[in-house]
Amino acid sequence: MDKKSKPFSDLADRIRFFEEIGAGFVFKSEAPRRAARPEGPRMADVRSDYGTNVPGSGPSGPAGESGLDLPRSARTLEDIAAEVRTCRKCGLAAGRTLAVPGEGNPKSPLLFVGEGPGHDEDVQGRPFVGRAGQLLTKIIQAMGYDRSEVFIANVVKCRPPENRVPHREEAETCAPFLLEQISVLRPRVIVTLGKTAVDFFLPDVKAMGMIRGNFQEWHGLPIMPTFHPSYLIRNEGNKEIKRMVWNDMQKVMAFLRGD
Ligand code: SF4
Repeated sequence: MDKKSKPFSDLADRIRFFEEIGAGFVFKSEAPRRAARPEGPRMADVRSDYGTNVPGSGPSGPAGESGLDLPRSARTLEDIAAEVRTCRKCGLAAGRTLAVPGEGNPKSPLLFVGEGPGHDEDVQGRPFVGRAGQLLTKIIQAMGYDRSEVFIANVVKCRPPENRVPHREEAETCAPFLLEQISVLRPRVIVTLGKTAVDFFLPDVKAMGMIRGNFQEWHGLPIMPTFHPSYLIRNEGNKEIKRMVWNDMQKVMAFLRGD
């Protein structure tokens, strides 16, 4: 489980990142950074029926409640993770080092869903710990949260060979794990990272460009589709793509605030 990660190597690195994504205001002082997060307790401090301490309301229903219309699994996240770690239901099991169930705050109203583990994740058994993961961690911090305050998972839990896109049958075989995780987490909003994650929730969408940056609905939950951090890395010099992702995250922040 992630402990207070510190992906910014130094102050200059932090300033540069916020400026690049058009969030320079976040850095000017700690006050605006706090203002950017929902008022009330930090997400990590939500201890009762989660979300009831998060003010605001939105398309997911009354203040702080998940709008998820799926039944709640009787299992815990750790029950699910334990099954994932020994699962051999699809061919991806053969090539993995460690399965990567996902990690984070089980009470988080915010869930990030990516495609699948890469090399670093496969070795460590943790999601988004490689270069793309470090960028995601920076984005989460730019939103005003610590990585450990949100939950991060993937569509498939084992690394596809050569980091290829998971085959449809692999994603379908693994789908019950992510669905069950969501039914236990009951987040208020899901951020999908890249097209594979979009395909999981919205299989009829042909291209990211059709929906990126616009809330979609899935089983009563708002879903914000945005680019995968690895796409930002592949287009490292393109500040416009970073700004698009930052705009998407600002919409998520506003939703959680109840704006
Ligand atoms: S990818 Fe999913 S279904 Fe396939 S072996 Fe891993 S945990 Fe099991």
